[in-house]
Amino acid sequence: MSNALMGNYRRSELAFESGQGCWLNATNGEKYLDCAAGIAVNALGHCHPHMVEAINTQAQKLWHVSNVFQIPEQALLAERLVAQTFADKAFFCNSGAEAMEAAIKMTRRYFFNKNQPEKFKIITFSGAFHGRTLATIAAGGQEKYLEGFGPKVQGFDTVPFGDHEALHAAITPETAAILVEPIQGEGGIRAVPHHCLKALRALCDEKGLLLIFDEVQCGMGRTGKLFAHEWAGITPDIMAVAKGIGGGFPLGACLATEDAASALVPGTHGTTYGGNPLAMAVGNSVLDIIEKPEFLANVLKMGEEFKTGLEALAKKYPNLILEARGFGLMLGLKLSVDPVLMVAELRKHHCLAVAAGDNVMRILPPLTITSSDIQFALKAIEAAAHNFTDSE
Ligand code: PLP
Repeated sequence: MSNALMGNYRRSELAFESGQGCWLNATNGEKYLDCAAGIAVNALGHCHPHMVEAINTQAQKLWHVSNVFQIPEQALLAERLVAQTFADKAFFCNSGAEAMEAAIKMTRRYFFNKNQPEKFKIITFSGAFHGRTLATIAAGGQEKYLEGFGPKVQGFDTVPFGDHEALHAAITPETAAILVEPIQGEGGIRAVPHHCLKALRALCDEKGLLLIFDEVQCGMGRTGKLFAHEWAGITPDIMAVAKGIGGGFPLGACLATEDAASALVPGTHGTTYGGNPLAMAVGNSVLDIIEKPEFLANVLKMGEEFKTGLEALAKKYPNLILEARGFGLMLGLKLSVDPVLMVAELRKHHCLAVAAGDNVMRILPPLTITSSDIQFALKAIEAAAHNFTDSE
């Protein structure tokens, strides 16, 4: 490990030199099944040939020009996302936190433009994770990410996850929006029930609030629909997207209705790299594959197989695995031990997963995972479980 790197990450000893599909080749000569996918990023696995071709072709044409010019590849990806979603407009950036910042700024500016600048507060939920910028740690509201970075950015009221009374009580004349991850990722694969998402939409309509979804982790096909909220049959006004949309290339997007997006006129927001031709070539290539109904149907099928296997393990090791959670290929195991320990143990069995809040180990494989890989992962999880449960 290099002393030249800042110490803000707790890294394992592993380093990888190449990857193919769901498998990674480590510098120690070992192969690992990737059920982490760079934390829900490598939606099409590693070095997908369609993405490799797209980036190589674009790399020889044009990488970057700036948003002071027309960028046809950007317009194309925007039009394709708009055609497939609730949104009328797209803004491209480079990460999830930036997509969220755009959503937050759009919200504030929307009410400012309506001569209601006093409406600037966004209601968020405990356990949420929206990024690591000053505004997004305030939105997430988690003390462990806020500590030492004060003063906290104003304008976020966090209510307990699932507490309907607290939510209603938190709405004041200053409230502008409600922000929610349809399925909390970092918070421990906690899904907002569909009827609650519907109720949030109705509440926002009744009170004149904007509804913002953060689908940075649960979007882009991970639940077997392009976006997780589609299962609930409702739509937001604004949505942050990242991770899977670039399949490993840094790419984020803020999607919005015409009305909400009208807040951002020239000069109000921007980013140098956002939507550059190289990123857009990759984004378009990812969407080429994920948008296919048969691809999404397969995510659901593989998700069901994985979840069934995880539920069987939960039955077999009830003292260790308290619950198998999640949907599609956004899965998790609630454990009785620290998930960091389980993730480390699982690595010894050549399978990668990610720890999350609420004592959950997240399983977020590439959406291209096969049945035989799932069986490998289940065996690895069982082998790891043995080490914690000698008596079971
Ligand atoms: N929102 C959600 C739901 C996330 O899971 C994440 C990252 O894990 C973010 C926002 C922030 O994304 P990024 O790390 O790309 O800034």
